[in-house]
Amino acid sequence: MAKNYYDILGVSKSASEDEVKRAYRKLAHQYHPDKDKGNEGKFKEINEAYQVLGSQEKRQQYDTYGQTFDQAQRNGGGGYGPQGGDPFGGFGVGGNGGVEFDLGDIFGDIFGGRTDREARRNRGIDLEMGLTLEFEEAVFGIEKNVTLEKKDTCKTCKGSGAQPDTKISTCPKCHGQGQILTMKRTIFGQVQSRATCDRCEGTGKIPEKPCHTCGGSGILRQEKTISVKIPAGIDDSQRIRVSGEGEAGYRGSSAGDLFLVIRVRPSKEFVRDGFTLHKELPVSFTQAALGAKIIVKTLDGDIELKIPSGTQSGTVFKVKGRGVPHVNDSDRRGDLLVAARLIVPGKLSKKEKELLKELADERGEVVEVDPGFWDSIRGTFSA
Ligand SMILES: [Zn+2]
Ligand SMILES: [Zn+2]
Repeated sequence: MAKNYYDILGVSKSASEDEVKRAYRKLAHQYHPDKDKGNEGKFKEINEAYQVLGSQEKRQQYDTYGQTFDQAQRNGGGGYGPQGGDPFGGFGVGGNGGVEFDLGDIFGDIFGGRTDREARRNRGIDLEMGLTLEFEEAVFGIEKNVTLEKKDTCKTCKGSGAQPDTKISTCPKCHGQGQILTMKRTIFGQVQSRATCDRCEGTGKIPEKPCHTCGGSGILRQEKTISVKIPAGIDDSQRIRVSGEGEAGYRGSSAGDLFLVIRVRPSKEFVRDGFTLHKELPVSFTQAALGAKIIVKTLDGDIELKIPSGTQSGTVFKVKGRGVPHVNDSDRRGDLLVAARLIVPGKLSKKEKELLKELADERGEVVEVDPGFWDSIRGTFSA
């Protein structure tokens, strides 16, 4: 869960600029790492909060888009870069005392662009692509090959960015830490700040000879085919996350994830509603009236359905366990609901017409038989 800056400073959302400033000063004094009861983590948190809430413009953006950022963190599963899990780990307090947290990042998240935050962490970006499944593939699950073009690990240098058989040395600027710590004097005394090393881009290593294939980034745009297991029961517009199959990270940093947005082709036979399947069953007048055993097609093959006598159009019969398996629990399956639909025959033979007329008479029902009917009967007599 992302931190709420207002909570951190202990002020309300309607606090004035002055109140925010006072709260910040008080807390910063209290938690400063140089103090007896100081707390470096808390101090950093307070600074982060103030960098946003202390600026009218940034505060407004935070009020508007703060939740979206939160959402982005959740969707990402907290797996950003090597420091993973701490969404603010890479920001730190910058050399100028400012937080390296640009609210432009928030807009990047919304529009799916590559954000500075991720770039700084060298993690590969997440990719999203659509995957269309046949109706039954979604119901029963399937293994699919997905081909995509993406920035993938360079095969020549295996992502290190160094020409094969050449040395990779430790970055002289950060001594392999990937980060630079600097001390700065402020009104609170010495403040330690941390920033990603610009020399090695946070990798801590520098190739002596950059790889000729990828130019030293360790990344190359290429086509890749991966096999993805689609779980049974997946439904239209659900997303499947394929961990580590997004774009490769800078010089062997962790890769992004691939998100597959599922599209399911409709079925001619069935309508799906969650884990329940619906189907219409044409039933003739006589079958409905007298009762019948009718063969019904299900996704698992044909079954025999008993229609009791006197079945009305629209009567629903439940076939237990012939629906869609629950995702992540394929032992549980929904039901198939079969709705009887009474079909009135369109074309009748002479014999059929006579029998029906007889039936109508027997039941005392008035029917108006179209004139052609008697003509045809007369015709048979005159022939
Ligand atoms: Zn390479
Ligand atoms: Zn470095």
